[in-house]
Amino acid sequence: MSREQARRVLEQAQRIAVATHIAPDADALSSAIGLTLILRRLGKEAVAFCDDDLPPRLKTLPHADEIGRTAHGSFDLRVSLDASDPSRLGQAFRGLESLPLLNIDHHVTNIGFGTINWVEPAAVATAEMVLWLADDLGVALDPELASLLLAGIVGDTLGLRTPNVTPQVLREVVRLMEAGASLAALVDTLFNRRSLAALRLFGQALAGVQMEDGVVWTVITREMRAASGLHHANDLSLSSFLIGTEEARIAAVFTERDDGQVEVSLRARPGYDVARVALAFGGGGHPPAAGCLVPGPLEAVVPRLLAALKAAAQGETDGKAP
Ligand code: AMP
Ligand code: MN
Ligand code: MN
Repeated sequence: MSREQARRVLEQAQRIAVATHIAPDADALSSAIGLTLILRRLGKEAVAFCDDDLPPRLKTLPHADEIGRTAHGSFDLRVSLDASDPSRLGQAFRGLESLPLLNIDHHVTNIGFGTINWVEPAAVATAEMVLWLADDLGVALDPELASLLLAGIVGDTLGLRTPNVTPQVLREVVRLMEAGASLAALVDTLFNRRSLAALRLFGQALAGVQMEDGVVWTVITREMRAASGLHHANDLSLSSFLIGTEEARIAAVFTERDDGQVEVSLRARPGYDVARVALAFGGGGHPPAAGCLVPGPLEAVVPRLLAALKAAAQGETDGKAP
């Protein structure tokens, strides 16, 4: 139903501003840029925005260098991609608040902030939903579009390794590869590259790891970041690594930002739910992978979150793999 509405509202629009979430990941950028390519193929004007710096690894995605931070120009529709609440868009849509907003996302915690909301928690990535849209709109895949959409799917499934990767997803991957996307190149860019500075910070954070009541966690302070020379530390994939700890059911990484707020990156084993904890602290995500941004200081945030995480690590949710 809302997939149908999404197609219709996109067909009717002529000048479209597309935005994705701050601290962008591969799914965020690829779904936003991918949708603009689809709309341009239909003869429309479409521009992508992300109100944040792009991690170096994502600057190699097709058309990533054309992304603006804040929408400027004249538009008749806003589209939000991969963002579960409007604060995740930063100032991308500043000044365009009166325009209708199409909200396309796959986070179970999406608060439905659009004029039209198309939210599919069963989709492995927002990029997968954009692939469905391309099909609905009759736009054929080309190598650039296929690479972008595969980047989103590969990024959010950790290289096609998460439990939600079904035969249908793999058939979509085959289509994208046949259209010209390189799975090997994307896996290499998204997962096999880390700067020496990032590696050292990763090691230092790993050395400080703690474990209590099924929760494994570590802290990255401002001082650690400054010493490493890394301005942003949200591209380390450290929480995904920590959840591999045999004894843990939940993993958390607390990163102190320059403004004192604390970024919390959460992971859970199948059957446990960190999306609910993240939502309770103003964030969001998926049951096995979620996050939130909490006002500091660090010393106050860590114990508050740990109490909630330890409770979540006690209760199996519904026993089903998310
Ligand atoms: P990350 O730990 O950064 O890889 O994020 C894991 C998941 O949680 C992704 O789906 C993010 O979109 C989501 N997420 C992370 N931080 C936030 C936040 N502050 N608010 C809402 N969702 C978030
Ligand atoms: Mn994302
Ligand atoms: Mn996503």
